[in-house]
Amino acid sequence: MKHSSLFTIVAIAMTSIACNSTPTAERTNPLLEEWNTPYGIPPFEKIEVSDYLPAFEAAMEAHKAEVEAIVANPEEPTFENTILALDNAGGMLNNVANTFFLIAAADTNPDLQKVEAEVSPMLAAHSDEIMMNADLFERVKKFYNRRHRAGLDALQLRLTEKTFKEFERGGSNLPADKQAELAEINRQLSEATVSYAQNLLAANAEYQLLLSSDQLGGLPQSLKNSARDAATEAGHKSEYLFTLNRSSIFPFLTYSTDRNLRKEIYTAYIERCNGGERDNTELIKTIIDLRTRRSQLLGFKSHADYVLDDVMAKTPKAVYELLDDLWEPSLNSAKRELGEMTEMMRKELNDNTAKLEAWDWFYYSEKVRKQRYNLDEQALRPYFSLDNVRQGIFGLCNRLYGITFTPVSVVAYNKECSTYKVNDSDGTLLGVVIFDFFPRAGKGGGAWCGEYVSMSMKDGQRVTPVVTVVCNFPRPSGNTPSLLSVDETETFFHEFGHALHNLFAQVPYKGLAGVERDFVELPSQIMENWAMEPAMLKTYAIHYQSGAVIPDNLIRRIEQSSKFGQGFTTTELLAASYTDMDIHTLRTAEGLDPVAFEQKKMNTERGLVSQIVPRYRYPYFSHIFDGGYSSGYYSYIWAEVLDKDAYQAFVESGDLFDKDTAARLRTLLASGGTKDGMDLYRDFRGAEPSRTPLLISRGFVTPDNGDEPEHLGQ
Ligand SMILES: [Zn+2]
Repeated sequence: MKHSSLFTIVAIAMTSIACNSTPTAERTNPLLEEWNTPYGIPPFEKIEVSDYLPAFEAAMEAHKAEVEAIVANPEEPTFENTILALDNAGGMLNNVANTFFLIAAADTNPDLQKVEAEVSPMLAAHSDEIMMNADLFERVKKFYNRRHRAGLDALQLRLTEKTFKEFERGGSNLPADKQAELAEINRQLSEATVSYAQNLLAANAEYQLLLSSDQLGGLPQSLKNSARDAATEAGHKSEYLFTLNRSSIFPFLTYSTDRNLRKEIYTAYIERCNGGERDNTELIKTIIDLRTRRSQLLGFKSHADYVLDDVMAKTPKAVYELLDDLWEPSLNSAKRELGEMTEMMRKELNDNTAKLEAWDWFYYSEKVRKQRYNLDEQALRPYFSLDNVRQGIFGLCNRLYGITFTPVSVVAYNKECSTYKVNDSDGTLLGVVIFDFFPRAGKGGGAWCGEYVSMSMKDGQRVTPVVTVVCNFPRPSGNTPSLLSVDETETFFHEFGHALHNLFAQVPYKGLAGVERDFVELPSQIMENWAMEPAMLKTYAIHYQSGAVIPDNLIRRIEQSSKFGQGFTTTELLAASYTDMDIHTLRTAEGLDPVAFEQKKMNTERGLVSQIVPRYRYPYFSHIFDGGYSSGYYSYIWAEVLDKDAYQAFVESGDLFDKDTAARLRTLLASGGTKDGMDLYRDFRGAEPSRTPLLISRGFVTPDNGDEPEHLGQ
């Protein structure tokens, strides 16, 4: 949620490509030369846009040559000459792709976008070609079948089984005619998903709500300023432009006093790509049809069965069980919120029959919150200057793990980037982090963490990772530094959790680096737990002008208000998790009408109130149709069960900064995918996770021991 889905897509695209090689050709292309740079960062200043396409082509050729060499080996297949050799192949392609996709997300332009459109299907076809290479699979299978007699250690065995399963899931085991069918389905799918994404992109770009200065009632000055800048940039001087980007529409819905305008922009938002010129409903049917047929070709009942087979959840049943457990308490809590807001609205309008609608929710929610907790978000910001938050995170990591952070001067891709090296307690270099904090044209929305270079082993040495954290925090202006909201502060902690996961990695094989998709948000979400802890706030929430530490009464109000609105937030999140599962557990797309289907499942069957719309609806649910989250949107709430329970380990130790617990957490973070997620979790916690801490944190149940966790660790 707090980071873009893009890197999951890249990660998924890349996992089927496996890794590492020595660059051979094209010595003049900086992407293909040995990167003799400080800390192994990409040679950003030398790369031209025109370098990417030839680099991709050369890297794919190199990868193919490596694969052919494995196939041509006259010796019997062994772990070294087949499984390990495959694991080591494709390194150049990984470097090129990581650099390209991270730059395309953080610093793009029309030329890069053109390359992106060209390269994506090339990568898909490249991956299919390897997955369906019958001779290659033959070798893998031959070794796999005698893996238990090959004297492998646990990790070698795991890599062998993982490699085999990846081939199986890619269709290697199918007869030739079915393979051809599968490749054709994959081709059609890549086309349909690109069209879906392009429709959505166009619909977003085309919508403009242009207002005059007398239509801005209730809006904070900062929002007016950015709307004016946006209008000016679009050629509408002295007007104010609001768009369907979340950073524009949701503040508008929260503060605008004009109910009709709220309705207008909200309706445009939830009706995107549902009919009209940018209609996505037919494409949704096509995508579901193709995915369902593909899963059945591969021996599964549905796309969800196919996807979940490879992650922690394992089955749709396990996902539905979690969602069903949370649904009722969440919906009940949302209904209570609705009742409170309706009461306020009726008083305000002096109309006892007034009905609160979906476009009123954000507005009245903010009003109730303000009234009840006397907490003005804007007044908190001075305590959360970007520098102080970053120092707070560094301090937390130092306290937990003994690691240190030092700024280094290197040339990154944009002059706004800042880079830090990270050293272990004994001085060993763990890696570097490139921060890129502020919005600009060419940067995607939201926040994310990625890796230009992943940790790997080369000649027995650890290759240190090059990690990046990219955000869209408010720009400093004049003498005012960048001041974060509570939400943005938590986002920074979140993304830094992903960064730590990468920095701590200590995995001998690339094929065992990745974790299950429903595990990947554990390392990030657990970091959010510290952000608003009183003991933690005292270390970093310091007023940027007066130098005063945040006062206790503000801390108390932040804490009290933290559970407010959780009914709505959880309900819209669960609703989207359900709609994702509902459509991907279908056995056929015949007769599917996506919008009617959503209504039937959510409103009729599950009792969702009309004032709450799933966080994303099918026509604009990019995560599941053109992102990497199909049958995976539940991952956020799944990982939250893990992170809330995991954090209890610190709470129970009596010290939120307990070093022994931190050492166990570090072991989990360093392990990558060397074990199943649940096994890693059990090693850390000594038990399977309980759902209770999540229910308590969302305010759906009250803790029965009455202990106030905020007294710990002080
Ligand atoms: Zn995340």
